Amino acid sequence: CGVFGVIGVADAANFVALGLHALQHRGQEAGGIVSYDPVQGFNSARRFGYVRDNFTKQSLMETLPGELAIGHVRYSTAGSKGNTQIRDVQPFFGEFAMGGAAIAHNGNLVNADELRRELIERGSIFQSSSDSECIIHLMARSLQRTIPERMKDALRRVEGAFSVVAMTRTKLIGVRDPLGVRPLVLGRVGDGYVLSSETCALDIIGAEFLREVEPGEMVVITGTTVESFKPFEPKRPRFCIFEHVYFSRPDSIIGGRSVYETRRQIGVELAREAPVEADLVCPVPDSGTPAAIGYAHESGIPFGMGIIRNQYMGRTFIEPTEQIRNMGVRLKLNVNRALIRGKRVILVDDSVVRGTTSRKIKEMILDAGAAEVHFRIASPPTAWPCFYGVDTPEREKLLAATMTETEMQHHLGVASLRFVSLDGLYRAVGVAQGRDARQPAYCDACFSGDYPVKPTDMVAKGFKL
Ligand code: 5GP
Ligand code: SF4
Ligand code: MG
Repeated sequence: CGVFGVIGVADAANFVALGLHALQHRGQEAGGIVSYDPVQGFNSARRFGYVRDNFTKQSLMETLPGELAIGHVRYSTAGSKGNTQIRDVQPFFGEFAMGGAAIAHNGNLVNADELRRELIERGSIFQSSSDSECIIHLMARSLQRTIPERMKDALRRVEGAFSVVAMTRTKLIGVRDPLGVRPLVLGRVGDGYVLSSETCALDIIGAEFLREVEPGEMVVITGTTVESFKPFEPKRPRFCIFEHVYFSRPDSIIGGRSVYETRRQIGVELAREAPVEADLVCPVPDSGTPAAIGYAHESGIPFGMGIIRNQYMGRTFIEPTEQIRNMGVRLKLNVNRALIRGKRVILVDDSVVRGTTSRKIKEMILDAGAAEVHFRIASPPTAWPCFYGVDTPEREKLLAATMTETEMQHHLGVASLRFVSLDGLYRAVGVAQGRDARQPAYCDACFSGDYPVKPTDMVAKGFKL
């Protein structure tokens, strides 16, 4: 998901709509905005579909007045896949003794089932099926006197990944979990401040990037001041390495690194680790493009757009049902026949998850007359599900969980298949010595099975670590 908030500028909701539009790649199912105005109080709008189809209408934006607003773009992770109800769409709003508050959450809580059971037993009435709603109920039960203090109480009880943007009548609040699994940045726009999942959404409103909200940090922003708190026991950060591989936009800056440059560098590593003789390096667009540029550069093999993407389709994997996903590949990608014919082609993609994309693309490329197809993947085999907010399927559906690399190569029917190594990936994100197995600098659980936070609910349901 993507989160965004603005304080201290007129018509803040319009800025939020633009910010969410720039974060649309983080969630395409639905979006919502809450604003606050001293005369009109809190207002909210939650809609299915793209930001641009909803939050551009003047009639709707007029209902969201004020100089303070937050928003959220959603894609469902495990749980309510494919049957999201509008009541699951964030931001969530709660009315407390000291006034209302709204929250937008990116990430996934791993003890939400357990918390929900406990909260319901004690009388909480849940409105949605979302893990994030626990935060509101925990805040409601806190005995603290201010909303930021109640939020600290609540967030000390939850486990997992959270980058939260919240608002009261007077404050914009940003928090990251102690490991800082999901991103969150702070910016300045005019006389006001902005919080955003990624820097690309600061650019769209002409905001200046100030800094990242640190892992384990809470920032409480009024119109003029930014206060910083460290409410949690300090831990070694474990940012999601997959944000660098796929999830973030390439024009964002994360941890001082250009996501584009990191992806290009993964391609360089891949070319060094897994060279092959061929005539053409083709990305699977758009997710494989920067890595393919790096691979072509390092190998000296020409780069070409052998697959053309229809820009009017969303990201395949974010479409929640299997059936839509299967159709998605053809609706979205087509082969550039004139370029491919007779050539030995290296296809570069960011990841293999179920293997559906790769299989279809290989067929399309061979049908178009390619002589050979070699796959090069800009991440290690995805063998473990993510429980921290990225929608990987259950373990049995992950190709790499059930097959060796050779078996995958046969299954996909390609001349060769190679993945970048975990060390190669770490080098590309700037860790020169590779992955330190004793204290890895990132979360890489979907590749290594090394989960930095125990997935409590899943283990209770029988998941084997
Ligand atoms: P597959 O077809 O192997 O299931 O999915 C691989 C494609 O989905 C890749 O092109 C990649 O861009 C995209 N993808 C990347 N990350 C994920 C993820 O976490 N889950 C899913 N389902 N697809 C992903
Ligand atoms: Fe990111 Fe993978 Fe960790 Fe999930 S399991 S947070 S996708 S690195
Ligand atoms: Mg892709």
